[in-house]
Amino acid sequence: MPIYSGGLGVLAGDHLKEASDLGLPLVGVGLMYAEGYFSQRISEDGWQVAVNNPLTFDDLPVQPVLDKNGELLKITVNFPDCSVNACIWELRVGRIPLYLLDTDLDENAPNDRKLTARLYWSDIDLRIAQEVLLGVGGVRALRALGYEPSVWHMNEGHAAFLTLERVRELVAGGTPFKKAAQKTRGNNVFTTHTPVPAGNDEFPLWLIDKNLSNYWGELGLTRDQFIDLARSHQAWGETFSMPILALRHSEGRNAVSELHGRVSRRMWQFLWPEVKEAEDVPITSITNGVHTGTWMARRLRVLYDKYLGEDWLDRLDEPETWDRMDAIPEAELWAVHMHLKRKLVFYVLNRARTRWMAGGFHPVQVIASGTMLDPYVLTVGFARRFATYKRATLVFDDLNRLLDIINRPNRPVQVIFSGKAHPDDEPGKQFIQEVYRAVKKAENGGRLVFLEDYDINLARYLVQGVDVWMNNPGRPTEASGTSGMKAALNGVLNFSVLSGWWREAYNGENGWAIGPDADLDAVVSDEADADSLYDTLKNEIIPLYYTDRGANDIPVKWVTRMKKSLRTITPLFGTRRMLKEYVERLYLPAMK
Ligand SMILES: *Cc1c(COP(=O)(O)O)cnc(C)c1O
Repeated sequence: MPIYSGGLGVLAGDHLKEASDLGLPLVGVGLMYAEGYFSQRISEDGWQVAVNNPLTFDDLPVQPVLDKNGELLKITVNFPDCSVNACIWELRVGRIPLYLLDTDLDENAPNDRKLTARLYWSDIDLRIAQEVLLGVGGVRALRALGYEPSVWHMNEGHAAFLTLERVRELVAGGTPFKKAAQKTRGNNVFTTHTPVPAGNDEFPLWLIDKNLSNYWGELGLTRDQFIDLARSHQAWGETFSMPILALRHSEGRNAVSELHGRVSRRMWQFLWPEVKEAEDVPITSITNGVHTGTWMARRLRVLYDKYLGEDWLDRLDEPETWDRMDAIPEAELWAVHMHLKRKLVFYVLNRARTRWMAGGFHPVQVIASGTMLDPYVLTVGFARRFATYKRATLVFDDLNRLLDIINRPNRPVQVIFSGKAHPDDEPGKQFIQEVYRAVKKAENGGRLVFLEDYDINLARYLVQGVDVWMNNPGRPTEASGTSGMKAALNGVLNFSVLSGWWREAYNGENGWAIGPDADLDAVVSDEADADSLYDTLKNEIIPLYYTDRGANDIPVKWVTRMKKSLRTITPLFGTRRMLKEYVERLYLPAMK
C-alpha cells in the first residue's frame, strides 16, 4: 500500500501488525490516498522527477465497507460552505482492521473529490481540510462502524481534531464544553513524532475561519474561545497549532525516544507554566520499534528456528532468548549474511537492467544504479527521506578523503544511497543532486551508487543485505529513527550519530558511533562529524572487515560484533517491546 512517505507511515503499519500478533483489540483510521505517494525518477543531472501513479483499488487488498442494504457506507463532514461525503475502505492487517476514508465520490464537488488524492499536500488549504476529514470524519466513521473505543491514540498531530469531535458528541447531548473536554481528555493518547516544524502543523487563523467557523458554535464556543484551544504565536502571526490541540486534550502524551522526550518536554514546557523544571513536563517517552516478522530475512529466521528454540518469536522481547546466540556457529551466520548480500546485489543489477531497457537512461546512470557492485566488498547503506536535517551529503564533506578511503586496493568500500525528497522540498532535492553528482564520477569506480525510488520493498533488500547501516542526522532533530533497527535485526552493523534510538542501543561493542555523545545544548559542527565518520570508517570498520580472516575466509571479529548487535538490539527495538509499553504505560491507564 504505497500510502506512506517515510518512517511515520511504516511505523503506523508496524504498530498494527504487532497489535495483530498480540491480539490487541485495535483498529486504525487513515485516509485512502488514491494517487499514493509519488514514484521517483532521477534525471541524468541528478534532479528528482516525481511520477504520480493513480492506484488501482482492484489490485489492492482493500474492500469498500457496505451498509446493511449493500450500499457504500458513507460519513459526512460539514464545512462552512459545503458538506463532504466519504466512503470507507477496509484493509485487514492480520486481525486488525484499518479503515481508510475516501472522498472521491460522484456527489462531491471536484475539489472535494481530490481531498484524499495525495499524501502531504504542501497546499495548507487542502491539508487543513484533510485533517478535519481525518479527525472529525475518523470519529464519525468509527461510530458508523459501531465502535465504542475505550482509548483514542493520535499518531502525530494530524488527527488532533478528533479530540474536538469527541467533545462535540457530548456537547450535543447537553454536557457543557468544559465538562465534556475534561471527560474525554482522560482516554486520549497523543504521540509526538518529531521536533521538526514540518511535522508540527500550524494553520493561519483565516484558514480556521474558512474551515471551522460552523464548528465552534456546535461546541458551544465563541471564535476566540475556539482559537484559544490551540493558539500559537509565531513571528509571522497567530496560528492554530495541531500539536498544542492534541497535547492539551490528551492525558497520555509521549515522545518516541528518551532524548526526544527531553527535547519535547523543553519544546512544550510553555504549555505548563506552573511546571518549573522542563523534566517535570508531563510528556513521557516510548522508544520506537520495528515489526520483527516483517523486517527479518527469512533465512535468518530459519537459522534462529534451529538454534534459539522454536518459540523464539514468541519470546522475542525476552533477553534470555538471545543468550542462546552463542550456540550459532560463526560460519553459519556468515553464510546467511553473504547470501543476503548477494541477493541484494542481484536485485540491484536487475533493477538497473529493467530501468535501462525502459529507456531514457544514460549509460552513466546505469553504472550509478549499481551495476558495478561486488558482493564481496564491504558495503555501506544509507537510505532514508532526503530531508536536509538527515545530512545525506555529510559523507561528501571531503570528497577526496572519501575517494581515498573507498578506493584502497584490497580493501575497497562501496556505498549505496537511496531516498526521496518531498516534491516541494527544493533543498532536499539539491541534496539528492549533490549525492548523484558524486555518484556519477568515474573516480569512484562505480562504488558509489544511488538507487531510484526508495520504498519498503527496496528497504527490505537494503537493511538485510548491506554490511553497515549509516545514519548521520543533525542532533537532536531525528526523534528516533527506525531503519537502523531493521538493519540491526538482520545482523547489519549500525554506524550512526548518537541521537534517537541509537543513543540508547549503542554500547561500544555492537556497532559504531559517529561524533560524540554530545549534550543537548552542545553544537557539533558538520566538519567534526564528517571527520569522525572518515576516521572510524578507515581505522576501525574497514580493518575489522578485511583482516583476521581465517582459512575459511570468515571475518570472525566482525561476526562477533554482529552477534553482539543481534543479541542486544533485537529484543529491545521491536514493536513487541514497544506496543507492550504503549499498553501498560498509556492505553491501560487511559482506560481506567
Ligand atoms: C524504515 C523506513 C523509513 C524510516 O527510516 P529512517 O532512517 O528511520 O528515517 C523510511 N522509509 C522507508 C521505506 C522505510 O522502510
